[in-house]
Amino acid sequence: MRGLKGKNVLITGASSGIGQAIAIRLAEEGCNIAINYHKSSEDAENTEDIAMQTACGNIENCGVQSLVIQGDVSKEEDIVQMVNTVVDTFGCLDILVNNAGIQTECPSHEVKTEDLDRVIGVNLRGAYLCARETIKQLLSQNRPGIIINISSVHEIIPRPMYISYSISKGGMENMTKTLALEYANQGIRVNAIAPGATITPINEAWVNNPQQKAVVESHIPMGRAGTAEEMAAAVAFLASDEAAYITGQTLFIDGGLTLYADFREAWSA
Ligand code: NAD
Repeated sequence: MRGLKGKNVLITGASSGIGQAIAIRLAEEGCNIAINYHKSSEDAENTEDIAMQTACGNIENCGVQSLVIQGDVSKEEDIVQMVNTVVDTFGCLDILVNNAGIQTECPSHEVKTEDLDRVIGVNLRGAYLCARETIKQLLSQNRPGIIINISSVHEIIPRPMYISYSISKGGMENMTKTLALEYANQGIRVNAIAPGATITPINEAWVNNPQQKAVVESHIPMGRAGTAEEMAAAVAFLASDEAAYITGQTLFIDGGLTLYADFREAWSA
C-alpha cells in the first residue's frame, strides 16, 4: 500500500493474535517494526522471525529492520522507555498501533477495584500514554504521524459481565476522536479499528471448542469469526497514504456483527 515503505512502527502487545498479524503485515509492506511484548520474549522473537521472513518475500523489503522491546503498557516508565528506544534505534517513530488489551469476566457489581484498574490501565490509560509519548516525539521532530487504536465492537455494543473492557473500549472511541481533532492540523491522523469476534488467544474460551464457536458464529451475519490477518489488512490501509484524508474514525471489521443479526428477520408481522 502507498506510503508505508520505510515507516517506523511501534505495535504494543505484538507477540500474539492481532498485534502479531499487524507486525507481520506491516513488515511485508516495508515498515520497520518495533514489537512490544509484555511477558513472552519467545513469542515476540517468533513474531519477529515470521515478520522478517515475510518481508523478505519481496526482495525490495529485505532491508526492513526490527526491534523487540519488553514493556508493560500499564507502566508509564516502560512506555517512555519504549518510545525512546524506538526513536534511538530507528531515528523516529511514524506509526503507533495501540493493540495491547486484556479482559476479565465478572458480574459488574462484584468487580474488584484492582481488576478494574488493571483492565483500564492496559486498554485505555496505557493506550493514551503511548499516544501521548508518540505525539510528543512527532511534535518535537516536526513530523507527521499516525496512531491506530485497536478498539472493539464493544466500543458501541454493551457487554455485560465485562464492564471494565466495555468502559475501556468506549473510552477509546472518545480518545480516538479527541486526539484526531486536536492534532489534525499538525499532520497527525488518529483512527481505530473495531474488530468483531476474531480467532486469537484472547478468545481461547471458544476458538478451540467447536460447539462454543458455532454459538458465537451464529450471531455473526457473515456466519464466521474474523481472522487476525483481516484486522491487520485494515490497519495497513489506515496507516497508508490510501487513507490520507481519514481521521477520527473507527472502522468496524466484524462480519456484520454491528448490524445486529437479530433484526435480520421481522419480529412480528
Ligand atoms: P491477544 O491476547 O492475543 O493479544 C493481546 C496482547 O496484549 C497480548 O500479546 C498480550 O501479551 C498483550 N498485553 C497484555 N497486557 C499487556 C501489557 N500490560 N503490556 C503490553 N502488552 C500487553 O488477543 P487479541 O485478540 O490479539 O487482542 C488484541 C487487541 O484486539 C486487544 O486490544 C483486544 O481488546 C482487541 N480485540 C480483540 C477481539 C477478538 O475477538 N480477538 C475483538 C475485539 C477487539
